[in-house]
Parts: sequence; structure tokens; C-alpha cells
Amino acid sequence: MAFPSGRHFLQIPGPTNVPDEVLRSMDMPTIDHRGPDFSRLLLGILDKLRPVFGTDRVVIFPSSGTGAWEAALVNTLSPGDRVLMSETGHFSSLWHEMATRLGLEVDLIPGNWRHGADPKEIEARLRQDKDHLIKAVAVVHNETSTGVVSRIPQVRQAIDNAGHPALLLVDTISSLGSLPYDHDGWGVDVTISCSQKGLMLPPGLGFNAISPKAMDISNRGGGMPRSFWDWGDVVKANERGFTHYTPATNLLYGLDKSLDLLLEEGLDNVFARHRRYGEATRHAVRAWGLEILCENQEEYSQVLTAVMMPEGHDADALRKLILDNFDMSLGAGLSKVAGKVFRIGHLGAFNDVSLAGTLAGVEMGLQLAGVPHREGGVQAAMRYLAETA
Ligand SMILES: *Cc1c(COP(=O)(O)O)cnc(C)c1O
Repeated sequence: MAFPSGRHFLQIPGPTNVPDEVLRSMDMPTIDHRGPDFSRLLLGILDKLRPVFGTDRVVIFPSSGTGAWEAALVNTLSPGDRVLMSETGHFSSLWHEMATRLGLEVDLIPGNWRHGADPKEIEARLRQDKDHLIKAVAVVHNETSTGVVSRIPQVRQAIDNAGHPALLLVDTISSLGSLPYDHDGWGVDVTISCSQKGLMLPPGLGFNAISPKAMDISNRGGGMPRSFWDWGDVVKANERGFTHYTPATNLLYGLDKSLDLLLEEGLDNVFARHRRYGEATRHAVRAWGLEILCENQEEYSQVLTAVMMPEGHDADALRKLILDNFDMSLGAGLSKVAGKVFRIGHLGAFNDVSLAGTLAGVEMGLQLAGVPHREGGVQAAMRYLAETA
């Protein structure tokens, strides 16, 4: 149903709002994907991706993030290999399920969905693995279902402390381009990402950043039987600025533009902007007297905030009321926390007044739905935004 007037507020934590410049950049006629214009476009993009991932070797697939997850696993791991995973929320669970379906043996560190991956526990598990049967540690950086960030440098440290050769695989699907990240600097072997969250694009592009160690496994025929997801084919074609299949050319025009926007703003400024939005949102939630799902302050997400509903109140009923009355979409609680939390997305193409408007929509919704809360959340956020402007 179309709302009578004004612009829809899409405040789910992905897919995110696509900037008008990016939308316009994709409104282009078809070009020959084997011609010089395409090659210039792709080589330019691969250059601009370097600072965003913090590494030289990035491959792009026409896929969602789920495809990029699969690419990471099938290029590096063989059926029967053990993988250490941490249950941080819905997305870590989906990745776990995929690994199991592919025939990997997952050692799971269970979690209550209010914390990130625990470096101490990872270190302990790796120390116990004297025969080095664990081939990879897989972690979701920003758990989009809970608003909890796992501390990747500490996970790397844990692997090194244990003197363990396992690969480190990191899902940055909802953090890349919004939270600080450094594939090489943090010693990550495979970084998985996609287009529709911090990169401010429509869905349809998946990414793997690949360390020399991971590339070597894939090149030497390690991993699983694969064809479409094979890194070697992509890398070989990319060297000349081409792909060995028909690329998603118009999404690549959009990516070229969105990378320009991020690099022109400056990545540090982009990260600082998200920090302010995370902090301002938490100011609002505390002023309302509601609880943030993330229990550890060091693991707060600056990309989204999951807010717990008071006992006896349904988050989905609140979200429906907000959508029907104020034309704003908030993120739903997923699986284990369905109905118990709602998620405020504050990432991507987003400014101070968009956040103030978003929080106003939430506060009006809490009032309309009769959810017990204190007034003044928006005030608290506005004060913080003005103080830090
Ligand atoms: C969205 C998301 C995914 C899934 O990506 P799709 O593009 O939907 O396949 C995986 N992991 C995280 C952390 C996500 O936020």
C-alpha cells in the first residue's frame, strides 16, 4: 500500500537506502562486457576496493552474501574438515547450517545471542586441538540479527596465542564500509561481504577478499569440487579486466559510484559518522528505559541497535503500527528473538536528521502501542548529536 505522501523511511539493517547518485549511475545502456569500457570499469573498481577491504586481492561474484559465504568455504575446506564457529545470532547459525550441508564438521561455541565470539574460548578450543584437525575459524564480524560486533583482532590473537594454523574466515556483510576493517592488518584469510548493506547498493554482488595462504589452498586444488565459485577462474579473468561469465555490469556502475562516495567522504569519517549514530541511538534507548540486546559495551554495533521489548509486548505488533502510521520499516527479530526485539538500522546513506526522524518514529510508535517507556529518547539523541556535531 502506498503511503499518501513523503518518502518511506527504510531503517532495516540491510538492504539499505541507495543514494540517488548511485541509482542514477546505474541508469546506463548495456555495454559490451568484453570491450574496453568494461575493462576500465572493473579495473578501476578493483583498485577502489583495496582501501575498503584493506587488501589487494578481492573477487566479485554476481550473488548475494550467501553465495560469497559458500565461495569462501568451497575454495578452502574439504568435506570432513573441522571448522570452529561461534553462535552469535541468526547469521552465524545460517552459516553454520551451510557448512554442515557442505559436509564440514562444525565445532560450535554456543552463545546467548547477546555477545560476540569469545576469543578466550576460541583460544582454549584451539589449544585442545593438538593434531590441528580444525582447519578454519569462522566468525561473523557484525551480527546483524543482534547488533553485536565480534572483535576480530582479538580472535586473530587467540589463534596466534594457540600457535594454531587454522584459517580465519570473517563475514563482514553488514560491517564493511561502516565499521573499521583491515583484512591484511588483522590477519584475516577470507573476508566475505556483499553489496546491499554498508556499500549502499541493491543486492546482487558478493565479495571475497583472499589472503595468499587461502589463495594457495584453492590454487593447489584444495577445497571442494566447485566451478562457478572457483577463485582461480575469477582472478585469471580479472587480471585483464574481464570476467569469465556475464558480469552484473549495471551493479558495477553503482559500485564504482558508491566507492567514490565512501572514499570522497573518507573512510575514517564514514566510521566516525556511524559511531555517532550508534551512540545517539543508545542514548535514546536508555532514555526510553528499554534494554539493548548487546550486553557488552565493547561489542556494541554502530550499524544497528537491537532493542528488547518489555515482557508481554510484541515487537512485530510495534513494527506494524509504526509502518502503518508513520511509513517506516524497522528490522524484525529473527528466529530465536522473533517478536522479542526490533532492530533500528543506522548504516549506509544516512545523516543526523534521518536518525532523529527514525528515532521520532520509534518513540511515537512506543506511545501508540502502549509500550511502557519514558519520553525523551529523541531529546537525548538530539542533544548528543548537537553536542558532537
Ligand atoms: C545479510 C547478511 C547475510 C546474508 O546475506 P544475503 O545477501 O542475504 O545472502 C549474511 N551475514 C550477515 C552478517 C548479514 O547481515
